[in-house]
Amino acid sequence: MPGPYVTPVHGDAELPGEVDVVVIGGGIIGTSTALELVERGLRVALCEKGGIGKEQSSRNWGWVRISRRDPREVPLMAEALRLWPNLNERTGRETGYRRAGIIFTCATDRQYADHEKWNELLTPYQFESRMVSGNELRNLVPDVNMDLKGALYTAVDGRAEPQLAAPAIAEAARDRGAHVLTECAVRGIETSGGAVSGVVTERGAIACSAVVLAGGAWSNLFAGNMGIDFPQLKVMNSVLRTKPIEGGPEQAIWHSDFAIRKRRDGGYTIASGHENIVRIVPKSFRYARQFLPALRKEWRSLNLRFGLSFLDEARIPTRWSLNEPSPFEYNRVLDPVPNRRLSDAALGAAQRAFPALANAEIAQRWAGYIDVTPDAVPVISPIDKVPGFFLASGFSGHGFGIGPAAGKLMADIVTRTTPVVDAKDYRFSRFTDGSKIELVSGF
Ligand SMILES: Cc1cc2nc3c(=O)[nH]c(=O)nc-3n(C[C@H](O)[C@H](O)[C@H](O)COP(=O)(O)OP(=O)(O)OC[C@H]3O[C@@H](n4cnc5c(N)ncnc54)[C@H](O)[C@@H]3O)c2cc1C
Repeated sequence: MPGPYVTPVHGDAELPGEVDVVVIGGGIIGTSTALELVERGLRVALCEKGGIGKEQSSRNWGWVRISRRDPREVPLMAEALRLWPNLNERTGRETGYRRAGIIFTCATDRQYADHEKWNELLTPYQFESRMVSGNELRNLVPDVNMDLKGALYTAVDGRAEPQLAAPAIAEAARDRGAHVLTECAVRGIETSGGAVSGVVTERGAIACSAVVLAGGAWSNLFAGNMGIDFPQLKVMNSVLRTKPIEGGPEQAIWHSDFAIRKRRDGGYTIASGHENIVRIVPKSFRYARQFLPALRKEWRSLNLRFGLSFLDEARIPTRWSLNEPSPFEYNRVLDPVPNRRLSDAALGAAQRAFPALANAEIAQRWAGYIDVTPDAVPVISPIDKVPGFFLASGFSGHGFGIGPAAGKLMADIVTRTTPVVDAKDYRFSRFTDGSKIELVSGF
């Protein structure tokens, strides 16, 4: 199943012998971190096991939103909303960013009250975000055919193109001197006196004093080989895109039966508004206790499946030495088979809601694994056990929009600069120091 077409980034032929920081993972988080670090004058190598942006960062819906954000992520997302509008100019490339608004529809009074609570969180920020009535919604979105109580409308929210953004940021990092290495899996980290002294890649070693792991769904495996237990699981979401359509909505719209977003090519990216598949794998049992609150809260949206993936995952080694091929070299791009039933149902519901979509033609389908933490809040943090090792992962289904700001925060932490926002809620140690782990928003 070929994933979505992603702007190709051709990796450098030469591996540098030494840099200041190695960033592992060429998704939106790794590329944004690399760009921030190189802009601050550091020597950076960005290592990606497959192609830049080919996993979650190109498969997502492309929503850039502060609405319905966990309060712990709101300050960082506010910074992301300041960074996105300048990203085309900063990278010298198209990222597809557009402030077109996002609408969360409310079919019932209960949903209305729920969305209203989320909206109140944004009051201190004075962003344009408000509850609208069903009638007002019809003015905002012409030709809508839904009987609704109202909606949460956040004008400051928007969209960007997942298939363009991470490649644009990676190329901009390279323009400023970063080494961009593709098909270059990092097998592990070397230490000297307990602190980071370099990485071993499948193409050789790179000396460095800092490593940022932005490995998306692979971070748990990588950290596990270092004896670091990062609680992280995967949830699958299936997506389709249509060919260009005239007259559909400009805003991205969420409804419990569908989520749709207009694309730069004039088509729509469409997915189920509420249903994700969770494959039961050995780690599901290992992290069952930590993820139980998330499971209780999200059980309606999680479709648990037991199948061959259990055996596939069980076969992946959890420990390896740095002089042998690592599991990352055997899977260049995570490319799960999409669930047609879920995305067809979403398309059907979207067609009923928007007559303009009635003759929509499906251009492509794909799926993506979302990496999630027990509280659905990322880790952007040093790992105290190994000085010089940093983790930026676990973005739990909301990492694309927040990505540029997460990269900035990670760079602040690596360079010991005053952080752009307080990073305490993103600390890794919350999973080990007995802190109460609370799921507020969801995946
Ligand atoms: C279907 C779907 C819809 C979503 N919708 C939205 C949305 O609308 N808005 C939003 O904000 N977020 C959304 N998300 C979430 C968002 O896509 C992710 O949170 C974000 O892309 C995570 O970025 P990342 O860089 O951490 O991970 P990834 O993009 O997965 O990148 C990690 C990279 O690390 C590489 N890697 C891993 N291990 C190694 C190694 N050892 N050596 C070298 N490279 C390695 C991988 O190959 C991969 O390319 C969605 C996700 C999915 C799947």
